[in-house]
Amino acid sequence: MTLEILKYPDKRLRQKSMPVEVFDKELHTLLDTMYETMMAHNGVGLAAIQVGLPKRILIVNVPREEDNEQYKEDLLEIINPVFLKQEGEMEWNEGCLSVPDFYESTTRFASITLTYKDRFGNDKILQAEGLLSVALQHEIDHLNGMLFVDKLPILKRKKFEKELRRK
Ligand SMILES: [Zn+2]
Repeated sequence: MTLEILKYPDKRLRQKSMPVEVFDKELHTLLDTMYETMMAHNGVGLAAIQVGLPKRILIVNVPREEDNEQYKEDLLEIINPVFLKQEGEMEWNEGCLSVPDFYESTTRFASITLTYKDRFGNDKILQAEGLLSVALQHEIDHLNGMLFVDKLPILKRKKFEKELRRK
């Protein structure tokens, strides 16, 4: 089963998501369905708000460097994330399942550390760099109602608006 993904400029994407308090079967089903939805759309990350649920839940499954393939064992299920550290700077060409067919480079922190809860409510800590770090920052922005196109400098933003009108 897959869920419908909300697309820009759907206003629901602007909601601020609320923390998860109950770590039950319903949450597990949602996480499983989010994974199927992300994979069906060839995504590397998905936030719950992208399927219309304003909860602080995201999943990320970045491809491995050696073969550019996604492995389910690398899947991260991140609930109620909080940044502990954000360092450095890097550029990455980003895309988003809610902003289909548009890619643009953005500036992100190169290295992040965050705390979060897993699907059982256990406290976890994660340090990430490179694509994983970018993907996590991108998805956490979704929890705060932000899209990567909001971060673009004015000229790139105009290019985006222009491409959007062309569709
Ligand atoms: Zn996105």
